[in-house]
Amino acid sequence: MKAAIIDIEKSKKVALLKQLDLYPFFRAIEESDGTQVVIKGQKQIMIGSNNYLGLTHHPEVIEAAQKAIGKYGTGCTGSRFLNGSFLIHEELEEKLARYLGKDNAIVFSTGMQTNLGALSSICGKDDCLILDSENHASIIDAAKLSYGITYKFKHGIMSSLERVLIATKDKYKVRTIVTDGIFSMNGDIAPLSEIINLAKKYHAYVYVDDAHGLGVLGRRGRGTANHFGVENDVDFIMGTFSKSFASIGGVLAGSRETMDHVRHVARSFIFSASMPPSAVATVLKCLELTDKSDEIHDLLWRNVAFMRDGFNDIGFYYYNSKTPILPIFVGDDIKAMKITKYLNDNGIFATPVIAPAVGKGEALIRTSYMASHKISELEYVLEVLKRAKTLFDIPSEKAIP
Ligand code: PMP
Repeated sequence: MKAAIIDIEKSKKVALLKQLDLYPFFRAIEESDGTQVVIKGQKQIMIGSNNYLGLTHHPEVIEAAQKAIGKYGTGCTGSRFLNGSFLIHEELEEKLARYLGKDNAIVFSTGMQTNLGALSSICGKDDCLILDSENHASIIDAAKLSYGITYKFKHGIMSSLERVLIATKDKYKVRTIVTDGIFSMNGDIAPLSEIINLAKKYHAYVYVDDAHGLGVLGRRGRGTANHFGVENDVDFIMGTFSKSFASIGGVLAGSRETMDHVRHVARSFIFSASMPPSAVATVLKCLELTDKSDEIHDLLWRNVAFMRDGFNDIGFYYYNSKTPILPIFVGDDIKAMKITKYLNDNGIFATPVIAPAVGKGEALIRTSYMASHKISELEYVLEVLKRAKTLFDIPSEKAIP
C-alpha cells in the first residue's frame, strides 16, 4: 500500500473549521475597488491587503498597464535570459537602481523568486547566511536552496546576532546577514543601523528584504535603508511589486559586479519567464506617481496615525507597530478565527495569523492600512473592532500561556 501524501491531522482540522464556518482562507473576491471588495455578494472593507499605497485601482496605473498590453501583448513567453527581455524591463531596472541608490538592479517575476535566486547565488558552498529568526518564508526556502550553511539569530536581538558573528568568524569566505526591512506579521522595523554596525565590525554583507518597506518607508517610499539613511551600507536591497507597487514581480539592487553575477547564476531568474509587460508598466507608473509628490504618503501616514490612535483608545496590544501593518494580539488560534468571522460578518476583511506563522499562543489578527482608505471606512472599522474587543475579551497585553 502507498503511504498517504496528506497530513491526516491537518486535513481533519481544516474539515472541522469548514464545518464550523470558521475557515478563513482562500476567500474568493468577486469584485474589488481596492479598499472595498465583494465576497459572496457582501461588500467588505479591506484591511487585510498589502496594497499600502492603494495604487491597484489608480486610473493612471490602469491606463499604463492597458497601454503596455496593447504595445507588447499580454506576456513575454520566455525568460529574461532568452526571448523575454524587453526594453521596458531594462528601463524599470535603471529607474529602480536610481530610486534605491544602488549601481544596478535586476527585476524578477515574483518576490519569492527574487529571494530564491538572489540568496542561492550569493551564498556558495564556502559561505554562510545569517538570518533573523522571523524572516519571511521565501528567505528560509532560499537558504535551503543555497549550498552554504544557515545560522539564525533571535528576532531583532543584536547580542544574539553578535554571538553568531563571533561563532562563524574565519569559518566562511562570505557571510551575509539577511533581515526583513519591515516584518510582515508584527509590522516592526529591523534595527538596520545596529545590524550594519555589527556587519562592519565582523566583515559581513547585509541583505534587506524590503517587501513591506519598499514604497512605504523612507523618502517617498525608498524603503527601510533610506529611512535610516544607510543605503550605502546595505549591500543588497530586495523588494517586491506585489505590495505597494500594485502588481507582481521583485527587484534585487546592489553593485554592478554582483548583479551581473546573479544575472548569470540565479536559476529562478534564468529558468522562469519574465515579468509580463503590463506588470512592468504598472510598476513604472507607480514609481512615477510615488516619486512625484508627498501626497500619497501623507494620506498613508494620516490613515496609519488615525488607526494607531484608535487602537490605543480601544486598548489593543499591537506590538507598538509604527508601520501600516497594525497587528492585534489575540493569543488563541480559534479565538483569532472567531474574531475574523465576526469581522467578516460585519463587512470587514482581515486575516488571522496562527501558528506556525507565529509562535504557539501568539495568534493575531493582521490588519493593514492603505493611502486610499477613507476616514469614514476607518471609523467604521474601529467601531466594529471596539465591539469585538469586549465580545471576545481581546487582551490588552501580550500574555503567552
Ligand atoms: N518577502 C517578504 C517579506 C514577503 O512578505 C513576501 C510576500 N508576502 C515575499 C518576500 C514574497 O513576495 P511575492 O509575493 O512578490 O512573491
